[in-house]
Amino acid sequence: MKVRNSEEINEENTFHPQKVVFICGAPHSGSTLLGLILGSHSRCFYAGEANKVIFLSSDMENPDRYCKVCGPSCDVWGGLIYKGDLNIYPLLSKKTGKSIVIDSTKKLEWIKTQLNKLANTPSETYLIYLLRDGRAVINSRLRKYKATHPEEIIEDWIRHMKKTNSFYQGFNGPKIQLHYEELATEPDKAIRFVCQFLGIIYEDEMLRYYDHEHHPLGGNTGTQSLIIKAQEENIKKQYIQLSERNKYYYSDHPLSIKLDLRWVKELSSNVIELFERKAGEINLPMKWNEK
Ligand SMILES: [Zn+2]
Repeated sequence: MKVRNSEEINEENTFHPQKVVFICGAPHSGSTLLGLILGSHSRCFYAGEANKVIFLSSDMENPDRYCKVCGPSCDVWGGLIYKGDLNIYPLLSKKTGKSIVIDSTKKLEWIKTQLNKLANTPSETYLIYLLRDGRAVINSRLRKYKATHPEEIIEDWIRHMKKTNSFYQGFNGPKIQLHYEELATEPDKAIRFVCQFLGIIYEDEMLRYYDHEHHPLGGNTGTQSLIIKAQEENIKKQYIQLSERNKYYYSDHPLSIKLDLRWVKELSSNVIELFERKAGEINLPMKWNEK
């Protein structure tokens, strides 16, 4: 990717990406994986969770606050100071030379604000709702927020899913739903389907997302660590730090895409029962049965 330097970029929003694609869903649903695969298409740039742009330059010690691959001196995000009325998508499109920009921010308020900014511009907006079995999501969140009670995590997930369901229903533009489990077990088929939806030609190299250049803000560190694993020789300084429990999993992880079913072994029967009672119904369309 040839990134244009700031002198070449006119800060005025006169240039617009052809398409801006939002990936919504619950956090820990595989959106980093989907974003990185799509961002490996020759026409696409994956911004990560673009709402993290508000933190840029604020805390140089926190790796979650700048490009996860290249750190503070990133060619794409480095030096960018976000102001509330800035439409970042034209800027990203112009900097990277990509006509499609992908944003996987899960916070619906952010997506709604961006949709308003994009409403009277030539950019078309697309929505992908990434779904994942709630039990897997709860397990990932329990791993991350060890001190939080499972009930609280389950209730939080239910609230987020209800809000996202109604947001998805109300979205007027082109939209699709995709299951993480389908993406992880048949990535070729799932990505062909998404490419068709976005009106772009499927490229075989997309699935080797870890071999491509990426500049994501936020997102899943485990998935991103595979970029570092694949490109160790080119990446001088590592900004991605895995937690202890994730280290075991990802040190043995092949580079290829693999379904993460850690919840089957890790989630206690008490939590599974609690989940079934509280969230069984809303989880029905997402329930993934192992074959
Ligand atoms: Zn970067």
